[in-house]
Amino acid sequence: MKDTTVIRRAAWVIAWDEDMKTHTYLKDADLVFSGSRITFIGQDYSGPFDQEISGSGRMIMPGLINIHSHLSGGPLDKGTFDEVGTAALWGHTLYTHSQLLRADPQAIKPGAVIALSELMKSGVTTVVDNSGYYEDLLELLVGSGVRAVLAPGFRQARWINVADHRVDYEWDHQAGWDGFRQALDLMDAIKKHPCDRLSGMIFPSQADTCEADLLKEAHAAAVDRDLPFQTHASQTMMEFSELMRRHGKSPVQWLDSLGILDEQTILGHCIYLDHHSWSPLHTRDDLPLLAERGTTVAHCPTVFGRTGMTLESFGDYVRAGVNLGIGTDSFPYNMLEELRHVGVYARITTGNVHDLTTTDVFNAATLGGAQALLRDDIGRLAVDAKADIVIVDIEHPLMRPGREPLRNLINVAAERAVKDVFVDGKLVVADGEICTLNYENALIEMDAAQVRSIRKVPELDFQNRTLDQLAPLAFPVRSRVE
Ligand SMILES: [Zn+2]
Repeated sequence: MKDTTVIRRAAWVIAWDEDMKTHTYLKDADLVFSGSRITFIGQDYSGPFDQEISGSGRMIMPGLINIHSHLSGGPLDKGTFDEVGTAALWGHTLYTHSQLLRADPQAIKPGAVIALSELMKSGVTTVVDNSGYYEDLLELLVGSGVRAVLAPGFRQARWINVADHRVDYEWDHQAGWDGFRQALDLMDAIKKHPCDRLSGMIFPSQADTCEADLLKEAHAAAVDRDLPFQTHASQTMMEFSELMRRHGKSPVQWLDSLGILDEQTILGHCIYLDHHSWSPLHTRDDLPLLAERGTTVAHCPTVFGRTGMTLESFGDYVRAGVNLGIGTDSFPYNMLEELRHVGVYARITTGNVHDLTTTDVFNAATLGGAQALLRDDIGRLAVDAKADIVIVDIEHPLMRPGREPLRNLINVAAERAVKDVFVDGKLVVADGEICTLNYENALIEMDAAQVRSIRKVPELDFQNRTLDQLAPLAFPVRSRVE
């Protein structure tokens, strides 16, 4: 006998309408789930149940899907290279600063605990982890209660920062193939794992660090196993110009020439397409090509926006017919704030309030993400869908006055109004707090981990600079005020 829970007379339910193929607002409705699946949405449920939750003053919405995040590394980076940039490399820090702050083995797990806790508190129920595999990862993800897609990265080259003005590639072709084999072994292990909240994704890390034959073979493995496939592409102008130099094609057109753009493929972050204002090309071919191939773009606005970079524009991608999903990439791991940034950045980028709507943004974080992960049983509240449910307190001061609960949640309250989160019918966030992970303990471990990593910055930097030299604090430090 499965446990049946009824959420009684919820003020608002964002419910899926199968006939209209859209989310709808349902008012004063009951939502029932039994085990891991939703069994009823509508008025006046009269069947049996084991547990009743009052829906008074609540909005019930589908759990959010984060299709691109690096779970373990991001928390360590907080407050370090947030607002620096390398002038000769278009302001990008990926090839210079980002490589200097490294998580040691003891920092990996607390990083993932922090990221997962913050994501679930902000309404995420499904997360793609684009980081490496490490011991205890499966156990951690199972224990966290989240629905997880493991995407262990592998690559054949690493970036070498040459005097802050050029990036060289140090190739180790075999390492990429070895990483690919290990990723496939992990995919097999996940398939056999008793926890069905776990699934896999094939993830050659970057378009510029893998050769054509590895990308093609990795994509073929994804097709063979019916798994989603992802790589970072068109994420920086550095990568764009490197692939132009190597192949005479934009990253998107080069990947297409390999035959690997299709409905199973997700490209993160796909900012620098041929039409982008920073691109030297005077063509507009990439965007319609992505739409024609059915490829998904993983849009992560915050981390790029912080250094002045933005996709041009979210609304144009939607109108071109490209499937969009949302990710948080690095910190902050706050999906609702990420959704706010999707809207604000797009409108500023275009100077146009009409570039997109909250509907587009929410669809990307639910339906678009589900499509990218080749699923139709998540990202929507419908009978037989997974019971991945977020309960929002619409009586929270930041949610009032309450004419438009979803816009209030995204534009104002964010995670502060998230009350409870269920994944697969199980409670993971209760009254705004994570109840499956030791968040506090991970924060303590991360404090120490950041100190250790900062100490190692000079030995990794080509000029032996300290973190304070590379990224000064916001104000000079005085021991006492005179
Ligand atoms: Zn990324």
